[in-house]
This record gives sequence, structure tokens and C-alpha cells, in this order.
Amino acid sequence: MPSNATIRFSQSCPTCGRRIQVRASMLGSTVACQHCQAEFIANGMEGEKSQVDENCRLMARVEKALQKSSAQSASTTIA
Ligand SMILES: [Zn+2]
Repeated sequence: MPSNATIRFSQSCPTCGRRIQVRASMLGSTVACQHCQAEFIANGMEGEKSQVDENCRLMARVEKALQKSSAQSASTTIA
């Protein structure tokens, strides 16, 4: 089953500054702000930090890492 789980992160619109939700699959793509319709590149690198942002980003990263190294989980167990 393809892991098409909708991981979202929130990013502040560079134009209106409001928080919008962007799908992780849209990273690097042009997205439109849900509030002002301004278009910008979703990069997930929003400077403003929030717990949700961190968690979402972490999850995306973990998922990537899992895909990359699902085979080499030998002695990399974090205590
Ligand atoms: Zn906006």
C-alpha cells in the first residue's frame, strides 16, 4: 500500500502572514495561500516555530529516514 498518508505542515504565508496548511507532498511546489490566494513555494522552512510545525517536520523527516534506511536498522537503536 503506498504511504500516501496526508502529512501536513503549517507555514505562514509570506504575503499575508497567516498560517496555512500545506501537504508535505507539496513541498517544493507552488501553493496558493488559502486566505489571500498569493502563490509561493512551499518549503516547510518557515522561521516561526510552533510545536505543531516541529512535529510535522519531524514526522516527515522520520518517514523519509525510514524509507531510506529500513534495511539498515541493525544497531542504531536509540536508548
Ligand atoms: Zn496569504
